[in-house]
Amino acid sequence: MTRAILALNAGSSSLKVAVYPETGDRPLLTGLADRIGAEGKLTLRDEGGVALPVAPGPLTTQAEAMRRVIESLRIDLPVAEIVAVGHRVVHGGPDRDAPAHIDDALLEELARYAPFAPLHQPHNLNGIRAALAEFPGIPQVACFDTAFHRHHPWVNDTFALPRAYYDKGVRRYGFHGVSYDYIAGHLAETAPHLHDGRVVVAHLGNGASACAIQNGRSVASTMGFSALDGLPMGTRCGQLDPGVVLYLMEQERLTPAQIADLLYKQSGLLGLSGLSNDMRELEASGTPEAAQAIDYFVFRLQREIGAMAAAMGGIDALVFCGGIGENSATIRARTCERMGWMGIEIDHHRNGSHARVISSDLARTTVMVIPTDEALVIVRAARAAL
Ligand code: AMP
Repeated sequence: MTRAILALNAGSSSLKVAVYPETGDRPLLTGLADRIGAEGKLTLRDEGGVALPVAPGPLTTQAEAMRRVIESLRIDLPVAEIVAVGHRVVHGGPDRDAPAHIDDALLEELARYAPFAPLHQPHNLNGIRAALAEFPGIPQVACFDTAFHRHHPWVNDTFALPRAYYDKGVRRYGFHGVSYDYIAGHLAETAPHLHDGRVVVAHLGNGASACAIQNGRSVASTMGFSALDGLPMGTRCGQLDPGVVLYLMEQERLTPAQIADLLYKQSGLLGLSGLSNDMRELEASGTPEAAQAIDYFVFRLQREIGAMAAAMGGIDALVFCGGIGENSATIRARTCERMGWMGIEIDHHRNGSHARVISSDLARTTVMVIPTDEALVIVRAARAAL
């Protein structure tokens, strides 16, 4: 049998999986159970991206998705034995700054943070429970999206509210930490002079945030208490005057659940365009509303890159990652326009060919495209637990 590590990322209606060999950084298999519920669909691919057969069965709950993934692994990787499992967990609370071994006490602790991330944490925990049931007795670890930011300075950890709320956990946690951890580690290996400098990373996917990373550590980030703050996202609003929420409650008479739905699911690119949360569709569409949604996305991103650089007293590198950051040359080019004052100037040929370094040779600030790999960070944490 080949010893293998399983990385899992359980969301509200999805389960992302990746299987890696015990040593080595290339996955044997990656996959996604999508739209878990009535229309669930499971797709698995081999190392080369070729679709693999999947076990038949329902996909209406997270537990069923887990079972079907595991049955499919028996078909697709018959000689693999899963020896450790790593899980992505959105919230590790105020103190967790590193991956943690999963046991009953940790599950109890993490359940206490569910009110901080009600749309993600309960699903992450359901995924863990399903995996504990399927893989009893092997080490399982949790990797937290908040962990990478836990040592950012106090001024970036707090809001200007009465201190009692800070003590109750109302803090700026920051998210996407698993992705930032990967980028910081990648820079340490491939460009140590940049890792030791001041780097702004723009993680631009369906969820989006930017992070100021100095000497490999988070100094500031655009997401705060929840994954709503900062940049506009596919369906999330990004930065919002809290007075808007008061207005929605008092004048529009929206309930907390309606406001949550509005801010998490109906806003961002979807809300502004009235068309789609998907950047590819907006770029292709050409409606004035889609164009304005992209204008807003780029404008807020430029603002936040400036803010992140200011938090470090300057910038040595700007890194794009995430589905939009890695694939949209247009968004990268537009973001870097009028950024010469920060030493940012891109080479359009390099940008168009998605080169790793897309800045021009004479630019003071290196601009890079680095495909992020959250699964690898999770796998490395699980390996360390063996
Ligand atoms: P992620 O959440 O990291 O998978 O990123 C999803 C986002 O990336 C969606 O908005 C996609 O439209 C966007 N995306 C993926 N490929 C492209 C592309 N070639 N051009 C523009 N946006 C893209």
